[in-house]
Amino acid sequence: MKIGVLCLQGAFIEHINILNKLGAETFEIRQKKDIEQDFDGIVLPGGESTTMGKLLRELDIYDTLFEAIKKGVPVFGTCAGLLLLAKEIDNDDRRHLATLNIVAKRNAYGRQLGSFNTIEKFNGKDIPMTFIRAPYVDSVGENVEILSVVDNKIVAVREGNQLATAFHPELTDCYDVHKYFIEMVKEYIKK
Ligand code: GLN
Repeated sequence: MKIGVLCLQGAFIEHINILNKLGAETFEIRQKKDIEQDFDGIVLPGGESTTMGKLLRELDIYDTLFEAIKKGVPVFGTCAGLLLLAKEIDNDDRRHLATLNIVAKRNAYGRQLGSFNTIEKFNGKDIPMTFIRAPYVDSVGENVEILSVVDNKIVAVREGNQLATAFHPELTDCYDVHKYFIEMVKEYIKK
């Protein structure tokens, strides 16, 4: 199992460390040639979605990444990564990969609640969640499964082989969300 982690900016090392601990092989996506190989999954980390979206295009990574996601290669986006995947961002004109059928709201918690930790359910099980200037999901389209709701806001979703969380599971000691993603990748490899 080989998972590419987008390493342009933001919290990517933490994803790599957890994926490696869970036995997945990883590689860094920094330029186009990095994804001109076979791979089984993609992680889009947290950071700054505008910067990452811009770099995706400037470095000419965008099309290859977009096609891989469209082809069904499992992708996991956290925080800014969720915004890269969102079909729409209701308080931002920018669209990035726009493959995930959700409307997201950027920096959605306002200044005071910009960053917080909580324990809430992901896919039915309590896990620690760290939010940092996080988005939430305003609405979901057909076929989008809701995996977490915190304070009546949707914060984790799945549509087919796309998984996205508004929080940062890579910044906690709980690997449940990464394990969930690895199961998605295993299913994909089997097919
Ligand atoms: N606020 C960032 C953005 O809009 C996301 C924050 C994060 O990834 N922790 O892109």
